[in-house]
Amino acid sequence: MTAPPPNIKRPPLGRSVGTLWGVGAERAAQLARVGVITIEDLLLHRPRRYEDRRHFRPIAELVVDETALTRGKVVALGVKWFKQHTRSIFELILDDGTARLHCRWWNLPYMEKYFAVGDEVVVFGKPLLLKPRTIDHPETEVVEGGEENFVHLNRITPIYPLTEGLPQRWLRGLIWRTLQRFEAEIVEPWPTNVGSANSSPAGQLPTRANAVHMLHFPEELEDIEIARRRLALDEFIELQRQIQIRRKNFEAKSQALPCGGDNHLMKPFLAQLGFKLTAAQTEVLRQLRKDMSSAHPMRRLLQGDVGSGKTVVAGCCGLMALESGYNVVLMAPTEILAEQHFRNFKKWFDELGIDLGLQTGSRKMGARETRTEEGASSSRPMLLIGTHALFTAGFEVPKLGLVIIDEQHKFGVAQREQLLRKGHYPHLLVMTATPIPRTLGLTLYGELNLSVIDELPPGRGRIKTFVRTGETLPKVWEFIREKLGKGRQAYVVYPRVEEAGVNGMKAVTKEFGKLQKTLAPFRVAMVHGQMKSADKEAAMASFRANSAQVLLATSLIEVGVDVPNATVMLIENAEQFGLAQLHQLRGRIGRGGHDSYCILVSAAKNKEAHERLKVLEETTDGFQIAEADLKLRGPGELLGQQQSGLPNFRFGDLRVDWDLIVRARQRAAELIGQ
Ligand code: ADP
Ligand code: MG
Repeated sequence: MTAPPPNIKRPPLGRSVGTLWGVGAERAAQLARVGVITIEDLLLHRPRRYEDRRHFRPIAELVVDETALTRGKVVALGVKWFKQHTRSIFELILDDGTARLHCRWWNLPYMEKYFAVGDEVVVFGKPLLLKPRTIDHPETEVVEGGEENFVHLNRITPIYPLTEGLPQRWLRGLIWRTLQRFEAEIVEPWPTNVGSANSSPAGQLPTRANAVHMLHFPEELEDIEIARRRLALDEFIELQRQIQIRRKNFEAKSQALPCGGDNHLMKPFLAQLGFKLTAAQTEVLRQLRKDMSSAHPMRRLLQGDVGSGKTVVAGCCGLMALESGYNVVLMAPTEILAEQHFRNFKKWFDELGIDLGLQTGSRKMGARETRTEEGASSSRPMLLIGTHALFTAGFEVPKLGLVIIDEQHKFGVAQREQLLRKGHYPHLLVMTATPIPRTLGLTLYGELNLSVIDELPPGRGRIKTFVRTGETLPKVWEFIREKLGKGRQAYVVYPRVEEAGVNGMKAVTKEFGKLQKTLAPFRVAMVHGQMKSADKEAAMASFRANSAQVLLATSLIEVGVDVPNATVMLIENAEQFGLAQLHQLRGRIGRGGHDSYCILVSAAKNKEAHERLKVLEETTDGFQIAEADLKLRGPGELLGQQQSGLPNFRFGDLRVDWDLIVRARQRAAELIGQ
């Protein structure tokens, strides 16, 4: 490690940890490996758990399978070798006067050098047996004498994330000393005199300095959460401040294209549509029209559960821009969905004399081609539909007034930005059916305004969901055959394409033949991501036309596909999918007037997974499901790899911090002076 240049002006907390007494180059390198570079990083190094070392359980009172904290003196220790010296057990025997405890470590013979007979050792772990009392691989810490002992014992003691070679006790001592020395330097990050009189930024929460102290050395167990919340609030305020500054800058430098429209296309469109917009759709349209004719370009997120009718709303929004003489781009995450949109809009827009273009990886119908075909005048605005192929270099849309992104959650934040740079501040409408939990919404899409379609169109059949185990499959097939016999169609979804996975995970290409036999004389079509586009499209077309009654697919079909006659969905190995994803898949059925059935099959062994799936039996409310998913799996999993936009919080927890995020938003607005 090179020493940072001496810089008198640098605030003390920003200095390298290497400047601290007792931290040499080697220790500094180890600290860097756990993310601690500066003194501030060290003070914010979050314990991964705490031990209440005011109370130890006597060894005699240990209970099998119950994690406990205990202590004792080493009375014996040694390594036993076996299997020709290839395997070993290191055993440490402690006595606390009530009983003896055997601690064992497998294949870690070097552990022996850390202990000596007579040492006092703190042990944290789960007893495996009581005769003799045994804990395998416990966490341990040797109690040393010395004046700093009060830091490590007789208090709620922090246990930190470590890296190889970094001792727990040394780090704890360092943090203690650093706190003594620097606590006074920890200042409030936000001015306290801005905003409503009674709102100190933290409200009832402690000062930042106190919070940092409580984080490491809480007096009571409750202090830990209080400290976390205070430090989380600071993180959220900083993030919201950035979001709001970005938004403000954007508004300052951008001027909106006037895209409010004059209804000359909208009127005939709505008249020929064949259904009436729901109240929720109408309300959203009102918001969109307002945005499209305002001074700043629209930046709006439209959330609406699967089947709530976002496409038609997007269509209306597109018409406003088209009426105003601007081109519109609609982007979908998959070719199947792009093609479906293309067909849909062709049906809707052809009569209105609007030109359409389609551009996916495999199909290119650029603006000019389409125009030549139809001999239309080149000044006529058009709707261009595509996948991310729209990003290809050199692609430009002149007079781009509006960009619509469908199923936003399937795109990364970076892709969204990239597309926007194509135009001259076009309006932006992003749509998603992944009901993003509220906390994530405000965090990821904080710079977007939010509209919600919170009702489904009338006349939809109900969806019933069942969680089943593999043994019931014969009955399930019988059930599906019965529905097919009545003229309905079905989806069958497996997690894999080719190779069956572990735990009997099924692959579509492997099961295709079997399924055709099981369901004959009904016909089965297959789609998966590794097929050629033309083959995918052919399979979709045959399912849409009901010449195939069953579509065997991977989760590829989770977005957009709309075949109202399909009323049954069987998903095997359902535990492989997230709840939100299953909800999306389930959204493919229940689109017509018939009742629909979703059958989720998972291995009975996995009880936890089974419980998780039950959430889907209980509710069809996408928001509830998304909240449940967020709680169960955390934000990273929920959003998947593609969402690069999620910040890494040290303290913030999007699963529980809704109130803090709301507070941070208000606070950020006050700080920026909006
Ligand atoms: P999503 O919000 O999941 O994208 P879609 O836009 O695909 O939903 O709409 C689902 C189906 O509902 C489509 O067939 C669409 O034509 C139909 N639909 C949309 N709005 C209404 C409405 N107000 N009344 C009846 N059907 C509607
Ligand atoms: Mg849709």
